[in-house]
Amino acid sequence: MLMAAFSATISGSSRFLSSTSLPKRKISASSPSPQCRSFPLPKPFPLSRLNIGSRLERGKSLTICAQTSVSDISVEKSMDEVNLPKGDMWSVHKFGGTCVGTSQRIKNVADIIISDDSERKLVVVSAMSKVTDMMYDLINKAQSRDDSYISALDAVLEKHNSTALDLLDGDDLATFLSQLHHDVSNLKAMLRAIYIAGHVTESFSDFVVGHGELWSAQMLSYVVRKNGIDCKWMDTREVLIVNPTSSNQVDPDFMESERKLEKWFSQNPSKIIIATGFIASTPQNIPTTLKRDGSDFSAAIMGALFRARQVTIWTDVDGVYSADPRKVSEAVILRKLSYQEAWEMSYFGANVLHPRTIIPVMRYDIPIVIRNIFNLSSPGTKICHSASEDVDGQILDSLVKGFATIDNLALVNVEGTGMAGVPGTASAIFSAVKDVGANVIMISQASSEHSVCFAVPEKEVRAVAEALQSRFRQALDAGRLSQVAVIPNCSILAAVGQKMASTPGVSATLFNALAKANINIRAIAQGCSEYNITVVLKREDCIRALRAVHSRFYLSRTTIAMGIIGPGLIGAALLDQLRDQVAVLKEEFNIDLRVMGITGSRTMLLSEVGIDLSRWRELLKQKGQVADLEKFTQHVHGNHFIPNTALVDCTADSNVASCYHDWLCKGIHVITPNKKANSGPLDKYLKLRALQRQSYTHYFYEATVGAGLPIVSTLRGLLETGDRILRIEGIFSGTLSYIFNNFTGTRTFSEVVTEAKEAGYTEPDPRDDLSGTDVARKVIILARESGLKLELSDIAVQTLVPEPLRATASADDFMKQLPQFDTDITKERQDAEESGEVLRYVGVVDAINQKGVVELRRYSKSHPFAQLSGSDNIIAFTTTRYKEQPLIVRGPGAGAQVTAGGVFSDILRLASYLGAPS
Ligand code: ADP
Ligand code: ASP
Ligand code: MG
Repeated sequence: MLMAAFSATISGSSRFLSSTSLPKRKISASSPSPQCRSFPLPKPFPLSRLNIGSRLERGKSLTICAQTSVSDISVEKSMDEVNLPKGDMWSVHKFGGTCVGTSQRIKNVADIIISDDSERKLVVVSAMSKVTDMMYDLINKAQSRDDSYISALDAVLEKHNSTALDLLDGDDLATFLSQLHHDVSNLKAMLRAIYIAGHVTESFSDFVVGHGELWSAQMLSYVVRKNGIDCKWMDTREVLIVNPTSSNQVDPDFMESERKLEKWFSQNPSKIIIATGFIASTPQNIPTTLKRDGSDFSAAIMGALFRARQVTIWTDVDGVYSADPRKVSEAVILRKLSYQEAWEMSYFGANVLHPRTIIPVMRYDIPIVIRNIFNLSSPGTKICHSASEDVDGQILDSLVKGFATIDNLALVNVEGTGMAGVPGTASAIFSAVKDVGANVIMISQASSEHSVCFAVPEKEVRAVAEALQSRFRQALDAGRLSQVAVIPNCSILAAVGQKMASTPGVSATLFNALAKANINIRAIAQGCSEYNITVVLKREDCIRALRAVHSRFYLSRTTIAMGIIGPGLIGAALLDQLRDQVAVLKEEFNIDLRVMGITGSRTMLLSEVGIDLSRWRELLKQKGQVADLEKFTQHVHGNHFIPNTALVDCTADSNVASCYHDWLCKGIHVITPNKKANSGPLDKYLKLRALQRQSYTHYFYEATVGAGLPIVSTLRGLLETGDRILRIEGIFSGTLSYIFNNFTGTRTFSEVVTEAKEAGYTEPDPRDDLSGTDVARKVIILARESGLKLELSDIAVQTLVPEPLRATASADDFMKQLPQFDTDITKERQDAEESGEVLRYVGVVDAINQKGVVELRRYSKSHPFAQLSGSDNIIAFTTTRYKEQPLIVRGPGAGAQVTAGGVFSDILRLASYLGAPS
C-alpha cells in the first residue's frame, strides 16, 4: 500500500521534473537586449542579520556564502548574452492571496494585467487566500493520523473546482479540472503515505503545499487568455533553483535559475508570463518552497532575473504603513521607503513585505511598488534606492519612518564578571545557540562586558538555555558566570528610519514616549546601520508601546484618551466645553483630546474611537451599559490606540478618589475638582503625591479650590520659585460669600440663607455649606500644598449650624427652625457694624504656627474681603515676598461653568506637560 502511494506520487510529480511538452524552438544566441541596463551596485547592506547572502564569482555559478554583503556581488556579463529579452521592457507584478481569493478577484487581477501597457509582463501569483494554510493543515492532519485530512482535501478540491466553474468554460475548463483532479488524486496518495508513516519529510511537505500556487497560476492564465491575450503559465519549479540553508531559509542560485529561465523562455516565448509564487526546486530538482509568505521573494527574484523596470506587489492595503494598521488604526501610508528601511520594517515584523524581497531587486536598483488591489486610486508605497527625494512633506521623513513589532520572543541574559576581557565568550555563546538552530533576532551587550543578552523566538528558548547551561557548566560552577537567565513573554519594538539613530534627539523622543506611557524597557539595541533602534519590552506592553511611539512621531504629540467620571453638573459642563473646543485645539494647537468613555454611577458609555460630544447625552441614554469603574478604566486606558490616558473625576465621591493611586501607578493621569483625595487621610495623600513626583504621570486638581481661579497654581508658583508661605487667608465658599455679602442688616440671617437656597447657591441641604466642612477641606488642601502635615480633624472649624439643629432630620425642617437662631448672629453683625467692620466666613492657613482654622471673622470695611460682591471667592497669600501687601486672587469661585473651566485648563496643562506647543 505504501509503495503504491509512493509510485503514484512520483509519477504525479514528474510533471515538473521533466521539461514541459510545449514545442521546442531553436533560439540562437544573440547580443544582449538593447534595453539591458547595468546598474550601480548599492551600498553595503547589513546582511549579517540575514545570515545569508550570495557571492557571484566571475565565470562561476552563484555560490552560497554566509555573512557577506551585496556589494560583493559582481554581475556575470556572459549571462546576458542569450536570447532572453531583459530590462526595462519587463514589468513584474505579484498578486497576494487575497488578490486572487475569489473568482471575481481573479477576473479583476486579469484586468489589471491586461491594462498594464508594458511591453512584457511577468506575473507572480500566490495561492488563493487561506489555501496554503489549508495545505499545511492537510499535512498536519495526515501526519498525526487524523482521518479528516480526506475531507479537508475535498474542501481544497471543491474550492478550486467551484472557482474554475465560475471562471472557465469549454476546453479550458475541462483541461483545468482534469489537471486539478489528477493533482488531487496524487496528493491523496501522498497524504495517505504520510498518514501511514506518521511522519513527513520537508520535501514531501513542500511538494504538497505548493499546489495552491500551481492552481491559481493556471486559472489566472486561462482567464487572461480568455480575454484574447496570449500568455504562458510558468511552473517556477522548472526555473527557480534554490539552495536550502541551515536556518530554514533558501538562497536562490541566480546563475542556475537564469540558465533555466533562458531554457524555459526559449520553449515558451511570451510577452505575458503567469508564474507561480512560493515554489522552487533544489539543485537536485526536488520541489521546495521559499517558505511562508515567500511569493514576494519569488517576484523579486524574477524581477532581478529579467532586470525588470519595476516590481509591483499587489496586496490588500494601500502600501507600507508607518505601523501595522491592524494594531495602530492611525498609521499613515509611507509614500517612499529606501530599500534598507523597507528591509528593516519587514525584518521586524511588517509582514506586508517578505524581508528577503529586497536583496534581489536592490542589486539592480529595481523599484518595488506596493499597491492595494482594492483601492486603485491609491498610489501605494515606492521602495527604491534613495528615499531622500521630496516625499510630499511627510512628517520627519528622513528620520523615523515606521514601527514594527515581533511577538513571542524570550530574552536570554548571560551574565557574570568572568566574561569581561575574555576573548571568545560571545563566540562561544552564539555557537551554542547556532548548534540548536535558534534564530537570534537581536543582541545587546553592555559595554562593561558584564552581560550579553539576546532575543530568540520563545519556542526556541528552552533549547537555547539548556545548550548554554551545558556549554558554560564549568564557568557557572566556578562562578565566573553568575547566570544564564531566561526572560519569557517579550516582544521587540523597532523604530525604523534612515539616519534616525544618528540624529540627536530621536532616540530621546522615542524613550521619552515609552516612559510617558509607563512602559519599561528590558533591552535596547541600536545597530551601527543607523536604520533602526530596537527595544525589548514585556509582551503585554507591546501594542501600547507601539501606539505610544507611533503617536509621538505621527499623531499630535498630545493625543489624550479621556474618561469622564460623573456627568453631573460639572461633568456635563465640561463635556459641553470640550465639545465646543476640541476641533480648535486640534487644528490650532495640535492638541488632540478624545473622550473614550463617560460614566455615571449607574450607566457608562464607551467608545473605541472617541465619543461624538455633540450627542453625548443621547448616546449615554441609548447606548449606555451598566457602569463598572474597573471596566471603564481598562477601556479608556488599554483598549484603544492612544498612548496618553487621563481620567477626569467630576464626582465628589471618596470611593472614586480612592482609585487615584492605582490609576497613577498604571500611568493614567488624573484630573479632578473632587476634594476627597487631597483632604482625606494624610498618609494616603502623601503617598499619592510621592507617586506623582516619582513618575511621569500627572495629577492636577486646580478646581478643588476656588473652581477655575488660579489658586493651587499660584501657590505652587510661589513655592517653586523659593518664596515662603506665611499665611493664606480667604473666602473659599461661594455660598458663604454670597450669604455674608448680602447680610447687610436689611434682612435677617435666615432670610438671606433662604434667598441663597432659592437662587440655587447652596447645597440641597444648606447645612453642608454652613457647617464649614467644605471650607475646611479647601484649607487642608492648601495647607498640605504649602507643606503642612495636617489632618482634616486638626482644622478648628466654627460651624454656623446652630447646635440644636445639627441633628434635625430634613433640610426643610432645618430651614423652618433656622429663624429661631437669628438673634445671636444679628448681634454679632451689629457689633461689627458699630466698629466699622463686616462679618466674613474665612479659612486660614497659618503656616508659621502650622495650623488651619475656619471661622467667622470681622474685617474693616476697607479690607479687600469686605469689598466682595455676589458669590466671589477671594484668597490672600502672605509670603516672604508678598509681606506688606498680600497677593490676592479674586473672582467667581463656584458654579458648574467656572469649575468645569478649571478642570478644562488642567487638561490643557496636562497637554502642555506632555509636549504641546506653547
Ligand atoms: P499578501 O497575502 O497580499 O501577501 P500579507 O497578509 O502577507 O498579504 O501582507 C499584507 C498585510 O500585512 C496587511 O493586510 C497588513 O495587515 C499587514 N501589515 C503588517 N504591518 C504592516 C505595515 N507596516 N504596513 C502595511 N501592512 C502591514
Ligand atoms: N502562499 C504562500 C503562503 O501563504 C506564499 C505567499 O502567499 O506569499 O505562505
Ligand atoms: Mg505576503
